[in-house]
Amino acid sequence: MLVSDIVLLDYKRCNRRPFLDFYGDPSEQQAQSEFLLKLREENQKQIGEFLDNISCQEPETPLDNWQVRGKETLEMMEQGAAYILEGVLWQTGLAGWNIPFSIPEPVTLMATPTLLVKKPGNSIFGNWQYEPISIKLGRRPKPEYKVVAAFQAKLLSLIQGSESNNPRLILRSHSESQIQLNTWMSRMEEVLHAVLSMLIARREPEVFISKQRCGLCQWQGFCYEVAQQIEHLSLLPGVTPTRYETLKQLGLTSLEELAHGDSNLLAQEFGKDIASGLQKQAHSTLYKQPLLKSSSSQSILKTIPTASREIYFDIEAEPERNLDYLLGVLIVDHEQQTEQFYPLIAESPEQEEQVWKQFLDLVCLDPHAPIYHYSKYEAETIKRLAALYKTSKKQEQQLLKRLVDLHDRVTRFLILPTENYSLKTIAQWLGFQWRESEASGEQCVCWYDQWLKTRDRALLDAIIRYNEDDCRATYHLKTWLVNFLSFDDNNVEPAKINFDQYKQL
Ligand code: SF4
Repeated sequence: MLVSDIVLLDYKRCNRRPFLDFYGDPSEQQAQSEFLLKLREENQKQIGEFLDNISCQEPETPLDNWQVRGKETLEMMEQGAAYILEGVLWQTGLAGWNIPFSIPEPVTLMATPTLLVKKPGNSIFGNWQYEPISIKLGRRPKPEYKVVAAFQAKLLSLIQGSESNNPRLILRSHSESQIQLNTWMSRMEEVLHAVLSMLIARREPEVFISKQRCGLCQWQGFCYEVAQQIEHLSLLPGVTPTRYETLKQLGLTSLEELAHGDSNLLAQEFGKDIASGLQKQAHSTLYKQPLLKSSSSQSILKTIPTASREIYFDIEAEPERNLDYLLGVLIVDHEQQTEQFYPLIAESPEQEEQVWKQFLDLVCLDPHAPIYHYSKYEAETIKRLAALYKTSKKQEQQLLKRLVDLHDRVTRFLILPTENYSLKTIAQWLGFQWRESEASGEQCVCWYDQWLKTRDRALLDAIIRYNEDDCRATYHLKTWLVNFLSFDDNNVEPAKINFDQYKQL
């Protein structure tokens, strides 16, 4: 059994993942997403920048052949190489690891620190030793990074026969994080014990779908299907892993049990507001009904203005370049019964300012039209671009006052029978369909990056179609919201868009 630092990292994020990697059916795994490959590329770039003035040696054998690459790494350490890039450390057996239970099969431990750096000290090599550096794309020193750093440090100490070493973590912000080894060594051992006992017992951890941690996982499709089949509570908005553990202790593990569970007991555990939110969400999902949280329909309606001309706004951004490259604007004229979409796109990063000015000119043609959008991001971007391109404070404030964030209205006032409150999920529940079925915000980031490299116009067109559909989905949601709130009774079926007509647009 080969247990690597990656296995520990994955386990810390989701204990089910290494189990599926070891024992799952590989045909159920999805291919690596383009976005994940892009992140890997960015990490390689980050490593390249860090090594700019450093001359390092790198083993020649590919990582697939980790035993031989490990031997090469060891030879370099014996020879006293100053820096070793992407070396391999491995040890067969668990001598020195203090495992409190017996393992029925041979175990090999393996680690791949980004860099091994030579330092003065004592080791089996002579009066020098090595320290591991991990270069990670994250902005924060996450616990899983620290577990990996502690694991690499311990394996390295055992291999080079040194007392200990000082692992370092370099993050995307170029900041360096020191690891408190006395704390993280014991946490790492706990994780290693848990991984080994799970793998030996072949105990499959329960599924738990979380957008944050499942988003880039190759088992996502498989796990989602499992969760849907058993109507797992992780598919219910508001059920976090910690809250789920409490619900299990209370014996409330199905939608029905949660919807009709003892509210007082739930309030004692979670507080009144969270308990009531969870029960209403369970109720909404169980009976497939949208519900109001507490305010009256009429008071909510007052927060959603309507006008004869309305603007729907959505942005595509490239976080790595801190660039907002597409400002999509859909202008709906109810009197003239027209809908016109304007994709204001920067074909190169230098055109961002030009696009921002086009946006200002366009939305100022209708100075009283409300601007609907679906996240805080649009307001934040207006502030960022206004400051960057020196737009007057007055114009910025006038623009901000016209914004109507429908995400805020939905999450503040309504409970919907959906698995989450993203625009895509809600609009799809309302019958809206995106023309680019494979598209997502993340996919657009990859497409734009490829457009800059290849100038393939089809990529830009796909992004524009996706962005237009985001604007139209926002329009569809607003129309439904106003209709729904205009009825006293909450039993309103979602309005269905005529998709055949829409596709011809
Ligand atoms: S999809 Fe989610 S639950 Fe399944 S293994 Fe991956 S991270 Fe874990």
